[in-house]
Amino acid sequence: MESAGVRAAPVTWHDVAMRDLRLLPKAHLHLHFTGSMRIRTLIELAAEQGVRLPPGLTDDVALRVPADQRGWFRFQRAYDAARAVVRTEAAMRRIIAEAAADDAAEGSRRLEIQVDPTSYAPHVGGLTPALEIVLDEARTASAATGVQVGVIVAASRTRHPLDARTLARLAALHAGDGPGEVIGFGLSNDERRGTTSDWAAAFRIARRAGLVGMPHGGELLGPDHVADVLAHLKPARIGHGVRLAEAPDLLRRVADDGIALEICPSSNVSLGVYETPEEVPLRALVDSGVQIALGADDPLLFRSRLLDQYEQARHVHGMSDTEIAALATSSMRASRASAGDVARWTAEVDAWLAAA
Ligand SMILES: [Zn+2]
Repeated sequence: MESAGVRAAPVTWHDVAMRDLRLLPKAHLHLHFTGSMRIRTLIELAAEQGVRLPPGLTDDVALRVPADQRGWFRFQRAYDAARAVVRTEAAMRRIIAEAAADDAAEGSRRLEIQVDPTSYAPHVGGLTPALEIVLDEARTASAATGVQVGVIVAASRTRHPLDARTLARLAALHAGDGPGEVIGFGLSNDERRGTTSDWAAAFRIARRAGLVGMPHGGELLGPDHVADVLAHLKPARIGHGVRLAEAPDLLRRVADDGIALEICPSSNVSLGVYETPEEVPLRALVDSGVQIALGADDPLLFRSRLLDQYEQARHVHGMSDTEIAALATSSMRASRASAGDVARWTAEVDAWLAAA
């Protein structure tokens, strides 16, 4: 029953049809290599390597930590334990192949997966082979699944900025926008680590090779940090940026400049940035007009994949199918896919919406 004085918004049949979100074409722009791993794969690789996994990593409960240094440490420890089982070329290929297959099953047309090849390099003969394995498998997986798999090489805030320059030079050698190419340059790990300007040189090297910047920012730290990232790293997209909702003026500037945000609601709640899914300011971000691509970030730890982010838009934020279709279109436009592909997929989104 409606309470007095509250008028329901007009509802069209589009809004109540509840179409299958799995069939909605979309692009997935924020997914980490190790964090994409299936639990079953983690268990099998651990057994293969004789590695004992810490308790909690393989049960069916999403990681939940406070948004402080201790919380991040717990997240990082779980992540490192998972990464430690990836010690062979076959394991690396399996992760890419399965990430593409899982994306395909959820309606993704384009996956831009980020990897820091540094951790895997010692097991496969160096940085160059580590990246080449990922790129080669991305090409194979693209052909096998129909999902275009591009790769973002991401430096880490926990390593020296000179290491980031080395990665940027390596990434530059494989720059392109297509499947199996390096489509962007990122900066990941704890936002609170290091001084952002120290990574400016690496991003400059990447930009000179035609690689756009896609660093993390604005999840664990607020809008001031995003301003720092914008000033020094000149990104085309921001990994997260969800806390820009706290600074409407800066958010408007980001929207006007065409910088897209990779919003990962499950990550925000797992890492304690927001207490509940309802608190993730998805609606405010959408209303600002900024381009948004929903992403899963680390489904291995957050137990929440790409499709779940769209389900949350519907069930937690009350978005209509028309609004959710706009989110999907936005994700494609924020990707590095060709204009032709984006136009084709956008037409598929329209068809999804038009279907009764
Ligand atoms: Zn991330």
